Amino acid sequence: MSIDYAARLADRVKLTEEHLITRMLNIADGLDDVIKMGRGDPDLDTPAHIIKAGQEALANGATHYTHPQGIQPLREAIARNIRDYGGAAYDPDEIMVTPGGQHGMFVIALALLNPGDEIIVPCPGYNPYSQAAEMTDAGVVKVPMGMETNFTLTADMIRPHITDRSKILVLINPNNPTGTVTPVEEVRKIAKLAQEHDLIVISDEIYSRLTFGNHKVLPVASIPGMRERTITLSGFSKAYAMTGWRIGYLAAPRELITPMSEINHAFAISTAAVSQHAALAAASGPQDCVEEMRRIYDERRRAICEGLDAVGMRYAEPQGGFYVYADVASLGLGITAGIFCERLLADGKVMMYPGTIYGDHTDDFVRMSMTQPADRIRVAMTRIGEVVAAIRAE
Ligand code: PLP
Repeated sequence: MSIDYAARLADRVKLTEEHLITRMLNIADGLDDVIKMGRGDPDLDTPAHIIKAGQEALANGATHYTHPQGIQPLREAIARNIRDYGGAAYDPDEIMVTPGGQHGMFVIALALLNPGDEIIVPCPGYNPYSQAAEMTDAGVVKVPMGMETNFTLTADMIRPHITDRSKILVLINPNNPTGTVTPVEEVRKIAKLAQEHDLIVISDEIYSRLTFGNHKVLPVASIPGMRERTITLSGFSKAYAMTGWRIGYLAAPRELITPMSEINHAFAISTAAVSQHAALAAASGPQDCVEEMRRIYDERRRAICEGLDAVGMRYAEPQGGFYVYADVASLGLGITAGIFCERLLADGKVMMYPGTIYGDHTDDFVRMSMTQPADRIRVAMTRIGEVVAAIRAE
Protein backbone atom coordinates (compact mmCIF):
# COMPACT_ATOMS: atom_id res chain seq x y z
CA MET A 1 0.00 0.00 0.00
CA SER A 2 1.42 3.38 -0.94
CA ILE A 3 1.62 6.02 1.73
CA ASP A 4 0.22 9.50 1.16
CA TYR A 5 3.03 11.35 2.89
CA ALA A 6 1.63 14.80 2.10
CA ALA A 7 -1.53 13.96 4.05
CA ARG A 8 0.54 12.96 7.06
CA LEU A 9 2.70 16.04 7.28
CA ALA A 10 1.85 18.57 9.96
CA ASP A 11 0.17 21.78 8.79
CA ARG A 12 3.16 23.81 9.92
CA VAL A 13 5.36 22.23 7.25
CA LYS A 14 3.86 24.59 4.71
CA LEU A 15 5.36 27.45 6.70
CA THR A 16 8.85 26.25 6.03
CA GLU A 17 8.50 25.72 2.31
CA GLU A 18 10.77 27.87 0.19
CA HIS A 19 9.71 26.74 -3.27
CA LEU A 20 11.31 29.58 -5.14
CA ILE A 21 14.75 29.26 -3.57
CA THR A 22 14.76 25.50 -4.09
CA ARG A 23 13.73 25.96 -7.71
CA MET A 24 16.47 28.52 -8.28
CA LEU A 25 19.09 26.37 -6.59
CA ASN A 26 18.05 23.48 -8.85
CA ILE A 27 18.36 25.66 -11.98
CA ALA A 28 21.80 26.89 -10.78
CA ASP A 29 22.99 23.31 -10.25
CA GLY A 30 22.64 22.63 -13.96
CA LEU A 31 24.62 25.74 -15.03
CA ASP A 32 28.34 26.59 -15.07
CA ASP A 33 29.80 29.87 -13.93
CA VAL A 34 26.80 31.13 -11.96
CA ILE A 35 27.59 34.28 -9.95
CA LYS A 36 25.85 33.58 -6.67
CA MET A 37 24.54 36.68 -4.95
CA GLY A 38 21.62 34.90 -3.31
CA ARG A 39 22.43 33.48 0.08
CA GLY A 40 23.68 35.64 2.94
CA ASP A 41 26.74 33.46 3.36
CA PRO A 42 30.07 35.31 3.08
CA ASP A 43 32.50 33.95 0.49
CA LEU A 44 35.28 35.14 2.82
CA ASP A 45 37.03 32.55 4.96
CA THR A 46 36.86 32.51 8.73
CA PRO A 47 40.05 34.34 9.89
CA ALA A 48 43.00 31.97 10.39
CA HIS A 49 43.44 32.57 14.15
CA ILE A 50 39.83 31.54 14.73
CA ILE A 51 40.20 28.32 12.71
CA LYS A 52 43.41 27.55 14.60
CA ALA A 53 41.65 28.01 17.94
CA GLY A 54 38.98 25.55 16.80
CA GLN A 55 41.58 23.00 15.71
CA GLU A 56 43.47 23.31 18.99
CA ALA A 57 40.27 23.01 20.99
CA LEU A 58 39.43 19.76 19.20
CA ALA A 59 42.91 18.38 19.85
CA ASN A 60 42.52 19.35 23.51
CA GLY A 61 39.26 17.50 24.05
CA ALA A 62 36.52 20.02 23.21
CA THR A 63 34.39 17.13 22.00
CA HIS A 64 31.71 17.08 24.70
CA TYR A 65 28.50 18.84 25.63
CA THR A 66 29.07 22.09 27.45
CA HIS A 67 27.04 24.10 29.94
CA PRO A 68 23.67 24.68 28.20
CA GLN A 69 24.26 28.45 28.15
CA GLY A 70 27.77 28.06 26.75
CA ILE A 71 31.30 27.93 28.16
CA GLN A 72 31.99 30.56 30.80
CA PRO A 73 34.96 32.30 29.10
CA LEU A 74 32.92 32.77 25.93
CA ARG A 75 29.99 34.24 27.83
CA GLU A 76 32.41 36.57 29.61
CA ALA A 77 33.98 37.64 26.29
CA ILE A 78 30.57 38.24 24.70
CA ALA A 79 29.44 40.35 27.67
CA ARG A 80 32.70 42.34 27.45
CA ASN A 81 32.28 42.89 23.70
CA ILE A 82 28.66 44.00 24.03
CA ARG A 83 29.75 46.61 26.59
CA ASP A 84 32.83 47.69 24.58
CA TYR A 85 30.68 48.30 21.50
CA GLY A 86 28.29 50.58 23.35
CA GLY A 87 25.78 48.00 24.58
CA ALA A 88 24.34 47.31 28.02
CA ALA A 89 26.21 45.69 30.92
CA TYR A 90 25.43 41.97 31.25
CA ASP A 91 26.63 39.31 33.64
CA PRO A 92 27.91 36.18 31.91
CA ASP A 93 24.84 34.30 33.16
CA GLU A 94 22.70 36.73 31.17
CA ILE A 95 24.28 35.48 27.95
CA MET A 96 23.11 32.32 26.22
CA VAL A 97 25.18 30.84 23.42
CA THR A 98 23.05 29.19 20.73
CA PRO A 99 23.71 27.04 17.64
CA GLY A 100 23.30 30.10 15.39
CA GLY A 101 21.31 33.27 15.92
CA GLN A 102 18.47 31.72 13.95
CA HIS A 103 18.03 29.00 16.57
CA GLY A 104 17.67 31.83 19.10
CA MET A 105 14.59 33.14 17.24
CA PHE A 106 12.77 29.86 17.79
CA VAL A 107 13.90 29.66 21.42
CA ILE A 108 12.52 33.14 22.07
CA ALA A 109 9.22 32.36 20.34
CA LEU A 110 8.76 29.14 22.28
CA ALA A 111 9.64 30.77 25.58
CA LEU A 112 7.52 33.91 25.22
CA LEU A 113 4.64 33.43 22.82
CA ASN A 114 1.29 31.82 23.57
CA PRO A 115 -1.38 31.22 20.92
CA GLY A 116 -3.10 34.53 20.25
CA ASP A 117 -0.19 36.72 21.36
CA GLU A 118 1.07 39.08 18.70
CA ILE A 119 4.57 39.75 17.49
CA ILE A 120 5.23 42.83 15.36
CA VAL A 121 7.82 42.38 12.61
CA PRO A 122 9.27 44.68 9.96
CA CYS A 123 8.20 43.84 6.45
CA PRO A 124 10.34 43.12 4.49
CA GLY A 125 12.50 41.64 7.23
CA TYR A 126 14.26 38.43 8.13
CA ASN A 127 11.48 35.88 7.68
CA PRO A 128 12.35 33.22 10.31
CA TYR A 129 11.02 35.58 13.01
CA SER A 130 7.58 35.13 11.44
CA GLN A 131 8.08 31.40 10.93
CA ALA A 132 9.07 30.93 14.57
CA ALA A 133 6.06 32.89 15.81
CA GLU A 134 3.65 31.05 13.50
CA MET A 135 4.83 27.75 14.90
CA THR A 136 3.60 28.86 18.32
CA ASP A 137 0.24 29.94 16.84
CA ALA A 138 0.97 33.54 17.72
CA GLY A 139 -0.25 36.25 15.38
CA VAL A 140 2.38 37.86 13.16
CA VAL A 141 1.69 41.52 12.55
CA LYS A 142 3.70 42.90 9.65
CA VAL A 143 4.62 46.55 9.42
CA PRO A 144 5.03 47.38 5.72
CA MET A 145 7.99 49.59 4.87
CA GLY A 146 8.87 51.21 1.57
CA MET A 147 11.27 53.38 -0.37
CA GLU A 148 9.76 56.56 1.10
CA THR A 149 11.80 55.91 4.30
CA ASN A 150 14.57 53.95 2.55
CA PHE A 151 12.86 50.91 4.17
CA THR A 152 13.56 52.23 7.66
CA LEU A 153 11.13 51.11 10.34
CA THR A 154 9.73 54.08 12.29
CA ALA A 155 7.80 54.42 15.54
CA ASP A 156 4.97 56.13 13.66
CA MET A 157 4.66 53.16 11.31
CA ILE A 158 4.58 50.69 14.20
CA ARG A 159 2.08 52.57 16.41
CA PRO A 160 -1.15 51.72 14.50
CA HIS A 161 -0.26 48.03 14.57
CA ILE A 162 -0.10 47.80 18.37
CA THR A 163 -3.07 46.02 20.00
CA ASP A 164 -3.74 44.74 23.50
CA ARG A 165 -2.37 41.37 22.34
CA SER A 166 0.99 42.80 21.19
CA LYS A 167 3.81 41.20 23.14
CA ILE A 168 7.02 41.41 21.12
CA LEU A 169 8.42 43.95 18.70
CA VAL A 170 11.25 42.88 16.39
CA LEU A 171 13.84 45.41 15.25
CA ILE A 172 16.48 44.18 12.80
CA ASN A 173 19.26 46.71 12.60
CA PRO A 174 20.82 46.72 10.02
CA ASN A 175 17.90 45.02 8.34
CA ASN A 176 18.04 42.03 6.06
CA PRO A 177 17.06 42.16 3.14
CA THR A 178 17.02 45.95 2.83
CA GLY A 179 20.49 46.92 4.11
CA THR A 180 18.90 49.74 6.09
CA VAL A 181 20.26 51.12 9.35
CA THR A 182 17.58 52.57 11.63
CA PRO A 183 18.69 56.09 12.59
CA VAL A 184 19.68 56.54 16.24
CA GLU A 185 16.85 59.00 16.95
CA GLU A 186 14.32 56.60 15.45
CA VAL A 187 15.62 53.72 17.59
CA ARG A 188 15.05 55.95 20.64
CA LYS A 189 11.48 56.67 19.52
CA ILE A 190 10.80 52.97 18.93
CA ALA A 191 12.19 52.21 22.40
CA LYS A 192 9.88 54.81 23.95
CA LEU A 193 6.93 53.26 22.13
CA ALA A 194 7.90 49.82 23.45
CA GLN A 195 7.99 51.20 27.00
CA GLU A 196 4.65 52.96 26.61
CA HIS A 197 2.99 49.74 25.42
CA ASP A 198 4.94 47.35 27.64
CA LEU A 199 6.45 45.43 24.70
CA ILE A 200 9.47 43.17 24.77
CA VAL A 201 11.90 44.10 22.01
CA ILE A 202 13.99 41.59 20.10
CA SER A 203 16.89 43.63 18.80
CA ASP A 204 18.67 41.72 16.05
CA GLU A 205 22.11 43.32 15.86
CA ILE A 206 23.90 40.55 13.97
CA TYR A 207 25.10 42.98 11.24
CA SER A 208 25.73 45.90 13.60
CA ARG A 209 29.49 45.97 13.10
CA LEU A 210 29.16 45.96 9.32
CA THR A 211 27.92 49.49 8.67
CA PHE A 212 29.01 52.04 6.07
CA GLY A 213 29.68 55.76 6.01
CA ASN A 214 28.27 57.58 9.05
CA HIS A 215 25.64 54.98 9.76
CA LYS A 216 25.93 53.51 13.25
CA VAL A 217 23.73 51.14 15.21
CA LEU A 218 22.43 52.20 18.62
CA PRO A 219 22.11 49.01 20.73
CA VAL A 220 18.53 49.01 22.01
CA ALA A 221 19.42 47.60 25.43
CA SER A 222 21.78 50.56 26.05
CA ILE A 223 18.83 52.99 26.06
CA PRO A 224 17.71 53.87 29.61
CA GLY A 225 14.80 51.65 30.68
CA MET A 226 15.28 49.19 27.81
CA ARG A 227 17.72 46.64 29.20
CA GLU A 228 14.99 44.89 31.19
CA ARG A 229 12.67 44.55 28.17
CA THR A 230 15.19 43.76 25.42
CA ILE A 231 16.52 40.49 24.07
CA THR A 232 19.55 41.20 21.92
CA LEU A 233 20.13 38.56 19.25
CA SER A 234 23.48 38.37 17.54
CA GLY A 235 26.20 35.97 16.49
CA PHE A 236 29.48 35.31 14.78
CA SER A 237 28.26 34.25 11.32
CA LYS A 238 28.38 37.62 9.62
CA ALA A 239 31.08 39.78 11.25
CA TYR A 240 33.59 36.90 11.46
CA ALA A 241 32.47 34.91 8.40
CA MET A 242 31.54 31.92 10.57
CA THR A 243 28.19 30.80 9.10
CA GLY A 244 29.19 27.14 8.96
CA TRP A 245 30.26 26.99 12.60
CA ARG A 246 26.65 27.61 13.66
CA ILE A 247 27.11 29.86 16.63
CA GLY A 248 25.18 32.87 17.88
CA TYR A 249 23.92 34.23 21.18
CA LEU A 250 21.15 35.97 23.08
CA ALA A 251 21.69 38.60 25.77
CA ALA A 252 18.80 39.34 28.11
CA PRO A 253 17.90 39.79 31.78
CA ARG A 254 18.37 36.66 33.89
CA GLU A 255 14.58 36.29 34.30
CA LEU A 256 14.26 35.75 30.54
CA ILE A 257 17.51 33.90 29.91
CA THR A 258 16.75 31.19 32.48
CA PRO A 259 13.50 29.93 30.87
CA MET A 260 14.98 30.36 27.39
CA SER A 261 17.94 28.30 28.51
CA GLU A 262 15.55 25.47 29.46
CA ILE A 263 14.14 25.51 25.94
CA ASN A 264 17.58 25.75 24.39
CA HIS A 265 18.65 22.74 26.43
CA ALA A 266 15.65 20.73 25.31
CA PHE A 267 16.37 21.54 21.66
CA ALA A 268 20.12 21.45 21.41
CA ILE A 269 21.56 20.43 24.82
CA SER A 270 24.39 22.84 24.06
CA THR A 271 26.16 24.54 21.17
CA ALA A 272 29.04 22.58 19.59
CA ALA A 273 32.07 22.89 21.90
CA VAL A 274 34.50 23.37 19.02
CA SER A 275 32.49 26.31 17.69
CA GLN A 276 32.40 27.90 21.12
CA HIS A 277 36.18 27.78 21.42
CA ALA A 278 36.56 29.24 17.94
CA ALA A 279 34.06 31.97 18.82
CA LEU A 280 36.05 32.69 21.98
CA ALA A 281 39.08 33.41 19.78
CA ALA A 282 36.86 35.61 17.59
CA ALA A 283 35.44 37.58 20.51
CA SER A 284 38.63 37.97 22.52
CA GLY A 285 41.25 38.09 19.73
CA PRO A 286 42.25 40.96 17.40
CA GLN A 287 39.28 42.75 15.88
CA ASP A 288 40.99 44.14 12.77
CA CYS A 289 39.58 41.18 10.78
CA VAL A 290 36.08 42.61 11.24
CA GLU A 291 37.20 46.03 10.01
CA GLU A 292 38.88 44.37 7.01
CA MET A 293 35.64 42.55 6.12
CA ARG A 294 33.67 45.75 6.54
CA ARG A 295 36.06 47.50 4.13
CA ILE A 296 35.70 44.66 1.59
CA TYR A 297 31.89 44.82 1.73
CA ASP A 298 32.04 48.58 1.35
CA GLU A 299 34.00 48.20 -1.90
CA ARG A 300 31.54 45.56 -3.14
CA ARG A 301 28.62 47.75 -2.20
CA ARG A 302 30.02 50.52 -4.38
CA ALA A 303 30.46 48.08 -7.28
CA ILE A 304 26.81 47.00 -7.01
CA CYS A 305 25.50 50.56 -6.74
CA GLU A 306 27.56 51.73 -9.73
CA GLY A 307 26.26 48.76 -11.74
CA LEU A 308 22.65 49.43 -10.77
CA ASP A 309 23.04 53.10 -11.63
CA ALA A 310 24.33 52.10 -15.07
CA VAL A 311 21.37 49.74 -15.62
CA GLY A 312 18.97 52.42 -14.35
CA MET A 313 17.62 50.35 -11.48
CA ARG A 314 16.52 52.15 -8.30
CA TYR A 315 17.62 50.77 -4.92
CA ALA A 316 17.46 51.48 -1.21
CA GLU A 317 20.65 53.11 0.05
CA PRO A 318 22.68 50.20 1.48
CA GLN A 319 23.84 51.40 4.91
CA GLY A 320 24.83 48.20 6.68
CA GLY A 321 24.98 44.41 6.41
CA PHE A 322 25.84 42.93 3.06
CA TYR A 323 22.76 43.34 0.90
CA VAL A 324 21.45 45.75 -1.69
CA TYR A 325 17.69 45.91 -2.17
CA ALA A 326 16.84 46.91 -5.73
CA ASP A 327 13.56 47.74 -7.43
CA VAL A 328 12.75 45.65 -10.52
CA ALA A 329 9.60 47.73 -11.16
CA SER A 330 11.80 50.79 -11.70
CA LEU A 331 13.10 49.13 -14.89
CA GLY A 332 9.59 49.22 -16.36
CA LEU A 333 9.85 45.67 -17.74
CA GLY A 334 6.37 44.71 -16.56
CA ILE A 335 7.57 41.57 -14.76
CA THR A 336 7.62 40.60 -11.11
CA ALA A 337 10.80 40.34 -9.05
CA GLY A 338 10.33 36.55 -8.93
CA ILE A 339 10.22 36.22 -12.73
CA PHE A 340 13.14 38.65 -13.02
CA CYS A 341 15.26 36.45 -10.71
CA GLU A 342 14.45 33.32 -12.70
CA ARG A 343 15.25 35.03 -16.03
CA LEU A 344 18.46 36.48 -14.62
CA LEU A 345 19.58 33.08 -13.46
CA ALA A 346 18.62 31.16 -16.58
CA ASP A 347 19.80 33.77 -19.13
CA GLY A 348 22.47 35.73 -17.26
CA LYS A 349 23.77 33.18 -14.75
CA VAL A 350 23.42 35.60 -11.87
CA MET A 351 21.58 34.45 -8.78
CA MET A 352 19.74 36.78 -6.45
CA TYR A 353 16.57 36.41 -4.38
CA PRO A 354 13.18 38.10 -4.73
CA GLY A 355 12.08 40.21 -1.77
CA THR A 356 8.88 38.16 -1.40
CA ILE A 357 10.99 35.59 0.48
CA TYR A 358 11.39 38.26 3.15
CA GLY A 359 7.73 39.14 3.18
CA ASP A 360 7.88 41.97 0.63
CA HIS A 361 4.26 42.76 -0.16
CA THR A 362 5.08 44.35 -3.54
CA ASP A 363 6.94 41.60 -5.44
CA ASP A 364 8.93 44.44 -6.97
CA PHE A 365 12.28 44.12 -5.19
CA VAL A 366 15.27 41.80 -5.31
CA ARG A 367 17.98 41.25 -2.72
CA MET A 368 21.54 41.11 -3.94
CA SER A 369 24.15 39.73 -1.54
CA MET A 370 27.66 41.17 -1.53
CA THR A 371 29.06 37.68 -1.22
CA GLN A 372 31.22 37.78 -4.37
CA PRO A 373 34.52 39.57 -5.00
CA ALA A 374 34.17 43.07 -6.51
CA ASP A 375 35.44 41.97 -9.97
CA ARG A 376 32.83 39.19 -10.11
CA ILE A 377 30.18 41.66 -9.01
CA ARG A 378 31.16 43.90 -11.95
CA VAL A 379 30.74 40.94 -14.32
CA ALA A 380 27.35 40.23 -12.71
CA MET A 381 26.26 43.82 -13.22
CA THR A 382 27.20 43.65 -16.93
CA ARG A 383 25.22 40.43 -17.28
CA ILE A 384 22.22 42.04 -15.56
CA GLY A 385 22.39 44.90 -18.08
CA GLU A 386 22.40 42.40 -20.94
CA VAL A 387 19.43 40.44 -19.61
CA VAL A 388 17.47 43.65 -19.05
CA ALA A 389 18.22 44.75 -22.62
CA ALA A 390 17.14 41.33 -23.94
CA ILE A 391 13.84 41.45 -22.02
CA ARG A 392 13.20 44.99 -23.33
CA ALA A 393 13.77 43.80 -26.88
CA GLU A 394 11.20 40.98 -26.61
N1 PLP B 1 19.54 37.61 11.87
C1 PLP B 1 19.57 38.06 10.62
C2 PLP B 1 19.01 39.41 10.34
C3 PLP B 1 20.09 37.28 9.58
O1 PLP B 1 20.12 37.77 8.34
C4 PLP B 1 20.56 35.99 9.88
C5 PLP B 1 21.08 35.12 8.79
O2 PLP B 1 21.06 35.42 7.63
C6 PLP B 1 20.52 35.55 11.19
C7 PLP B 1 20.02 36.39 12.17
C8 PLP B 1 20.96 34.18 11.60
O3 PLP B 1 22.30 33.94 11.44
P1 PLP B 1 23.00 32.70 12.12
O4 PLP B 1 21.96 31.68 12.44
O5 PLP B 1 23.97 32.20 11.10
O6 PLP B 1 23.67 33.22 13.36
